[in-house]
Amino acid sequence: FFMFGILFFYIYNLLKREHEALNIFAYQDILTGADNRNRFVTDLPALLREPADYAMVLMNMSGFKFVNEFFGFEKGNLLLQHIARVLEENLAQGERYYRDNADHFGMLLYYKSREEIISRMKKIHQDINDHVISPNQDYRINCNFGINIIQGNEPRMILSPDAAINGALLALNSVNGNTSNPIAFYDEEIHEKARKKIEIESQMHAALANGEFHMYLQPKYYLGDQTLHSAEALVRWCSEDGVMHYPDEFIPVFEENGFITELDMYMLEEACKKVSCWMKQGYQVRPISVNQSRVFFYDDEYLDKFHDIVDRYQIEPSLIILEVTESVAMSNLDQVKMVIKKLHKMGFTISMDDFGSGYSSLNTLKDLDIAELKLDREFLSEQSTSPKGKVVVESIIRLARELSITTVAEGIENERQLEFLRSISCDIGQGFYFARPMPVDAFENKVLHGPLAEPKPDGN
Ligand code: C2E
Ligand code: MG
Ligand code: MG
Repeated sequence: FFMFGILFFYIYNLLKREHEALNIFAYQDILTGADNRNRFVTDLPALLREPADYAMVLMNMSGFKFVNEFFGFEKGNLLLQHIARVLEENLAQGERYYRDNADHFGMLLYYKSREEIISRMKKIHQDINDHVISPNQDYRINCNFGINIIQGNEPRMILSPDAAINGALLALNSVNGNTSNPIAFYDEEIHEKARKKIEIESQMHAALANGEFHMYLQPKYYLGDQTLHSAEALVRWCSEDGVMHYPDEFIPVFEENGFITELDMYMLEEACKKVSCWMKQGYQVRPISVNQSRVFFYDDEYLDKFHDIVDRYQIEPSLIILEVTESVAMSNLDQVKMVIKKLHKMGFTISMDDFGSGYSSLNTLKDLDIAELKLDREFLSEQSTSPKGKVVVESIIRLARELSITTVAEGIENERQLEFLRSISCDIGQGFYFARPMPVDAFENKVLHGPLAEPKPDGN
């Protein structure tokens, strides 16, 4: 019995210690010693029952990944420990902070006014920057803050901890990576945007399967003799309820969740189908431009898929112009250079879209195998068409010509702009002045058969 007693005691102790260890793991962040999300979420309902005004704050760093990669994990860990200390020191009695995950931290603070919260966040940001990551590098740590204000007189019963945190997260996401304006408060606009996003995401797969995405075409004309050069494919989402949605509404959401790759592949296929159809019907064949999102630049599989599609419809890849926006090209130049080279080798025509809207450098034009440059609409503004502006646009066009790159102006809306572009010898134009984007059958009837470009019955 005595032996049994000892054994029992031994096992009891073992279990107790394990339980304590588990408790630490379950409720504490090992690296920083801060509470973890689990602890915070468990305690939050009780805190929210107090009739105080709170600010639920979520904070992260922009470029923490870079810190890890550039300075090493050790330095990254020290920084996280420093941040935990800063947050702890900046809390008032009764306030809480926790480490959410990676470089995300959360705080529940008493709320007095927006100004007061903002100045507290600025102080925290400053204190975080007191930390020197590496003695011979002056690296500034940028933080973003998302704040959800929870008023004491709101009915708290319906506000779950998840909702409190989620509001702060949505606010944080709205300023993620924004260094000039790093603090956002959760409001009606952010709420509405999030609601819209969920709605879009719940419908997009079915919409693609049901053929709700339509290819519209907008013609591009040679400015010299106004004959048809090609058409740009622009997507329209015609939903079941008969409402037509424009790309600006849903493309940013698709880019965020990755669905854009499916849509772009679909649009590419629609364009190939159409070109092959025109060939069979004996039209003089016109190329179609398809917009391509940034995502496909990171995945080699796309190149194979592109190949498969043009093969399936047995068309010349040069009849497909791939439009890549300038911002993509500039953000990852080496990768983009390589992919564009491959696409070019496969025979596709590559166009740089929205040139001049971002940080493009004329210098990169020589490195990229592009055949076409689409000048951003901005080049048709008052400023750009002034005598000085004209010199700038003119020299871009001259430079492009010397590099054998075709120039396209988009967004031509009036005669004056057309004359301006002609005067500086821009090659091709597109815009409402000629025609708006239209459904494919309208394009066939009005443009391919239209007065500007007679279809040649035996064009190929
Ligand atoms: P983008 O490629 O620069 O397309 C040109 C946009 O300018 C189109 O807007 C077109 O309707 C509009 N536009 C054409 N002429 C004029 C004009 O004279 N005046 C004005 N004010 N606007 C003109 P849209 O169709 O709303 O497309 C917006 C953007 O959405 C496109 O800009 C493109 O970046 C993106 N997008 C459209 N379809 C697709 C797609 O299938 N895939 C991807 N990844 N992006 C797409
Ligand atoms: Mg485009
Ligand atoms: Mg454009």
